[in-house]
Amino acid sequence: MTIQTKVLIIGSGPAGYTAAIYTSRAGLEPVLFSGPQIGGQLTLTNEIENFPGFPDPITGEELMFRMREQCQKLGVNIIHDEIVSIDFKKRPFTCKTSSKEEVKADSIIISTGATAKLLNLNNEIKYLGHGISTCATCDGFFYKGKDVAVVGGGNTAAMEAMHLSKFCKTVYMIHRRDKLKADKVMQKRLLSTKNISMVWNSTPVSISGTDNPPSLTTVTLRNLKTNEDTDLKVDGLFISIGSNPETKLFKNQLDLDESGYIITKPQSCKTSIDGVFAAGDVQNPLHKQAILAAGSGCLAALEAEEFLSDLN
Ligand SMILES: Cc1cc2nc3c(=O)[nH]c(=O)nc-3n(C[C@H](O)[C@H](O)[C@H](O)COP(=O)(O)OP(=O)(O)OC[C@H]3O[C@@H](n4cnc5c(N)ncnc54)[C@H](O)[C@@H]3O)c2cc1C
Repeated sequence: MTIQTKVLIIGSGPAGYTAAIYTSRAGLEPVLFSGPQIGGQLTLTNEIENFPGFPDPITGEELMFRMREQCQKLGVNIIHDEIVSIDFKKRPFTCKTSSKEEVKADSIIISTGATAKLLNLNNEIKYLGHGISTCATCDGFFYKGKDVAVVGGGNTAAMEAMHLSKFCKTVYMIHRRDKLKADKVMQKRLLSTKNISMVWNSTPVSISGTDNPPSLTTVTLRNLKTNEDTDLKVDGLFISIGSNPETKLFKNQLDLDESGYIITKPQSCKTSIDGVFAAGDVQNPLHKQAILAAGSGCLAALEAEEFLSDLN
């Protein structure tokens, strides 16, 4: 069977659902493919305190359920399947799904997200959300007055450490080398912040804590120069070693940056191909937040609407 649509939306995170809400209200009858993770990354978290409109914390599951419900009420065709190939060479663009359906779309909004890299240590998944986090902006607030550590040495890790230093007791910044990759201004700020303590030439080799409920207490660090292991007692470990944008499908078709993020025009969701838009974490290497993803989903929808009306 072939599905024909004016707007195909790939992904069911905040960016995809918001794009669907706007394009549906514009009468464009969008088709949204939810992909393998219905509701996106936010479904992995327990409490969200920074999405406007929810004075009491809401779970990620509940917030994404509500977004999906809003899409359904507006008549969005949500299909629980994955796009496995795309041909951007001519319009309508042709896609194949994992259940071997064909989709022909006049425009496409890509909102396939990005996944934070982990350290691949035993227990890491057990303590994810119970002491381990990949987002200080999201979870830092829960560690007020506590001792935490940030792993990484780039700009994002540096920003996360600076953010945490405002309300945590001590922030250990663990880096494999004896120099940071973060830019000079950021390095200066970090090194002059009293409650940030640098742990150079070191990497976490194991993680431990309590079982019931799971709660991280200790990170064992290996000094890569001396090979010595030491235990660091912390309440939180923020892993900030980069993310993998979900862009395998678009490689060699769309312009991507060196880390694989889709490059969009400044202050726009337009990609290197007319009629193809990217929204959310997949085009935002720096600030991964649901509200930003939703905002760019809105912009992508408005730009798709404009693009389609110019075609007619
Ligand atoms: C543990 C955790 C806690 C977080 N806490 C917060 C918080 O408190 N506040 C906050 O603002 N942000 C938080 N974030 C960040 C937030 O989740 C992301 O910024 C946001 O989800 C990005 O939205 P998105 O729509 O761009 O992508 P995602 O939410 O990543 O969604 C991507 C979607 O694309 C789909 N997809 C992928 N490939 C395909 C394909 N081939 N075909 C079809 N679909 C596909 C997936 O199934 C998924 O539905 C947190 C993230 C994590 C991991």
